[in-house]
Amino acid sequence: MDKLTLLAANFVIIAVFAISFLVLANGKDRKEHWRFWSLANFLLGGALLLFMAETVYPVLSALAVPNFVLVASFTMHLLGAARFHNSRVSSAFLIGPPSFLAVTTLIAFQSGHYALVYVATSILVASLAFSTALQYYRSDMDARSARFALVLAFSLIGIEDTVRSVEGMWSFANMGPGLPESLMVQIHLLLGLIFVTISGAFTLVLSYEQSVLEQREMARRDPLTGTYNRREFEYRVGKLLDQTPRQDFALLQLDLDHFKRFNDNFGHVAGDAALIRTCRMIQKHLRTKDCLARLGGEEFAILMPDISLAEAYKTSDTMRKRIAGMKMDDISPEAVVTISAGLYYGSGHDLTIAGLLELADRKLYESKKTGRNRISVVNVA
Ligand code: GH3
Ligand code: MG
Ligand code: MG
Repeated sequence: MDKLTLLAANFVIIAVFAISFLVLANGKDRKEHWRFWSLANFLLGGALLLFMAETVYPVLSALAVPNFVLVASFTMHLLGAARFHNSRVSSAFLIGPPSFLAVTTLIAFQSGHYALVYVATSILVASLAFSTALQYYRSDMDARSARFALVLAFSLIGIEDTVRSVEGMWSFANMGPGLPESLMVQIHLLLGLIFVTISGAFTLVLSYEQSVLEQREMARRDPLTGTYNRREFEYRVGKLLDQTPRQDFALLQLDLDHFKRFNDNFGHVAGDAALIRTCRMIQKHLRTKDCLARLGGEEFAILMPDISLAEAYKTSDTMRKRIAGMKMDDISPEAVVTISAGLYYGSGHDLTIAGLLELADRKLYESKKTGRNRISVVNVA
């Protein structure tokens, strides 16, 4: 295939992706990410058209127009990758590459060393592609397989352009303005076709994978407080009970005291805010392996694996005190939240999930009866 056919084939694939990404940019999720991807593809398509047009209009290559558009396209890829996980890249990435290319182009056409433009473009595209790969690598998004495919695709583009820059330096003296007509260029364009297809396809997979994961996560959470829901809690307790050999764990069941009165005094919206703040305070005292869940209404439970009874009690009691000490002056200087709780500690031997929760609940009820704002511990013989 000759250079023009390859450029045209690349253009068609890129145009299809650009339109698909534009459709996604009008959807609900990650609009900015798709906008950047769409723009990146439109620019890349534009760059290819310009490379095709430069045989007819040599002025384009004289001003290195296609090269600027190509670099802009890879900058958009980088910005898109950063937006995917809600981070931003330094503005140096916006100003640096075009400035570098502008200076190089000026020197190239003053000195007649046209290869400088080719080398500079390849170095810039390689750096931007490696930075994009790094963004996908660093992302803490869970959609691992698609993410790593993108890391691979952009790293390959990076390697490919590094090779191009070395090759440009090699044939430095023989290069004229514009894209050279050689076997190497055809190979690069063919590889470009493969990378563009891989990266485009895997971005679509990434979006699909991520939204499935997010929906799964949403199904495990309580919408008001963001804590886990009862289903997730029972699943985790069930897993601990099924473990062999059994290990001791702590389960704290807690309920906000006189919360009906709190709502009556300060309103339901203030009540919601108090629930959220209480959960935030609890979360501050928990480790990542602990699980706080809203069982319903103003009732919560915490599962703490790999912990001693003394530690579990100390954590729970510190939480209780810190909650009682929370200032809520924006609601009212008199607004106070206290909790009563029941703490189970043991291996759950011979107990079902419901049985376990009932034991903790009985102790919670005891805390309520004996004055509230306290924790009672289940005695396991
Ligand atoms: P006790 O100390 O015995 O637990 O008294 P209480 O008033 O907390 O218990 P009760 O079961 O009588 O009332 C629970 C209250 O919790 C009533 C209900 O309006 C409130 N509540 C439950 N869920 C929410 C919620 O999502 N938001 C708000 N604001 N209030 C809630
Ligand atoms: Mg209550
Ligand atoms: Mg209750």
